[in-house]
Amino acid sequence: MKYISTRGDKTERGFSEILLEGLAPDGGLYLPTHYPPINNATLTRWRGLSYAELAFEILALYIDDIPRADLKALANKTYTEAVFGTPQITPLKGLGEGVWLQALSNGPTLAFKDMAMQLLGNLFEYELARRGQTLNILGATSGDTGSAAEYAMRGKHGVNVFMLSPKGRMSPFQQAQMFSLQDANIHNIAVEGVFDDCQDIVKAVSNDLEFKRRYRIGTVNSINWARLLAQVVYYFAGYFAATKTNGETVSFAVPSGNFGNICAGHVARMMGLPIKRLVLATNENNVLDEFFRTGTYRVRSSAETHETSSPSMDISKASNFERFVFDLLGRDAARTAQLFKHDVEKQGAFTVTPDEFARIASFGFVSGSSSHADRVATIRETDQRFATVIDTHTADGLKVGREHLDPGVPMIVLETALPAKFAATIVEALGREPGRPAAMVGIEALPKRFIVMPADVQKVKAFITEHA
Ligand SMILES: *Cc1c(COP(=O)(O)O)cnc(C)c1O
Repeated sequence: MKYISTRGDKTERGFSEILLEGLAPDGGLYLPTHYPPINNATLTRWRGLSYAELAFEILALYIDDIPRADLKALANKTYTEAVFGTPQITPLKGLGEGVWLQALSNGPTLAFKDMAMQLLGNLFEYELARRGQTLNILGATSGDTGSAAEYAMRGKHGVNVFMLSPKGRMSPFQQAQMFSLQDANIHNIAVEGVFDDCQDIVKAVSNDLEFKRRYRIGTVNSINWARLLAQVVYYFAGYFAATKTNGETVSFAVPSGNFGNICAGHVARMMGLPIKRLVLATNENNVLDEFFRTGTYRVRSSAETHETSSPSMDISKASNFERFVFDLLGRDAARTAQLFKHDVEKQGAFTVTPDEFARIASFGFVSGSSSHADRVATIRETDQRFATVIDTHTADGLKVGREHLDPGVPMIVLETALPAKFAATIVEALGREPGRPAAMVGIEALPKRFIVMPADVQKVKAFITEHA
């Protein structure tokens, strides 16, 4: 299997070459040259597999430059009950009327990003050892991504993590999750500024190509193809858990921000997984809902980006969206580049043609959005009717998923975080604190390991130089 860019760079690269990369050199995103089709016999065989075995089978279709035995060992090491809490890894829970909740948030940081990031940690360690190289991961976070990256990379050979976060602006729980890590290769940098300052520093460091090469700076953001690939697995696992035969179809409702999670569902569907609908749910930041309803993709300014109670979906543009548009346009790289490189960068928006818009239905996508009041009502109702407390992002997914039910087609809502992470809204909805997994009780009181720094690129560079 080889990988190409959505913007026309035709150089075909192997998986190991793109594993440690971000964007393709032409600014596009990497995609496989084709989606390997899954036939009925394969689906039947996969139905009986454990999660780790299923992960291996899917990864092996896209990764042919890591020996199969090694890949199998990496999948087995990643998807364990010890890390994800149950033998099924992503079990389903019924919420009546054919609606299911698929648990993706029982990993170390209580959000679905662990599903991919835990594999990425093991893949990075493996590949760096194979090359005899090291990597310094530099990132900016306002919560979920940073902690998932740190828990995936902690203690890994050959990898350091330098994670910038806005000082005092994460929730006490999120701060405790990250800052309580005592591993020598994890460096928490609390920047005196806001999230955008952190992100600007990361950009400035990454744009210094000499520094970047010299200190082997890398990233683990959501455009990484390996992260997306790892997420494909749970769509298959969810399908098998909700159906008995391959003649059945299911729909998935996906709380969306950067379009990474649901893009994995798109890949699963392109492989032939019987998915009827991919229901994209946004919060008040409805960039993507607007596109799927109108055909216009208009990125928002930071002034137009709302701070909501499902903060991990507060995006102004969706960094993985170009992958879907490339497929929607019949993989026309010139047109994709025109829309993203020219129209988005120059005018902040594009509109697809009526013909292109009409094609969206054949990809299964529908969408909707949700407000704070919707989240509160959905959390309350789900608690009352099913004695189940869901988090705010999952509530966005459930609310919109219910608007797209088809008789006889299970609707699987992806649970993207546990309620413990977003306690304030749970208290507002239910009048009580959400429960916490035993390992997380009292983490706010643990000793913290972090350093405070002004929003100053030179100071961050100096720190990296000293600790790389
Ligand atoms: C990251 C995140 C999302 C959004 O996922 P995308 O892949 O960016 O669409 C939704 N919910 C939670 C809890 C998240 O952490």
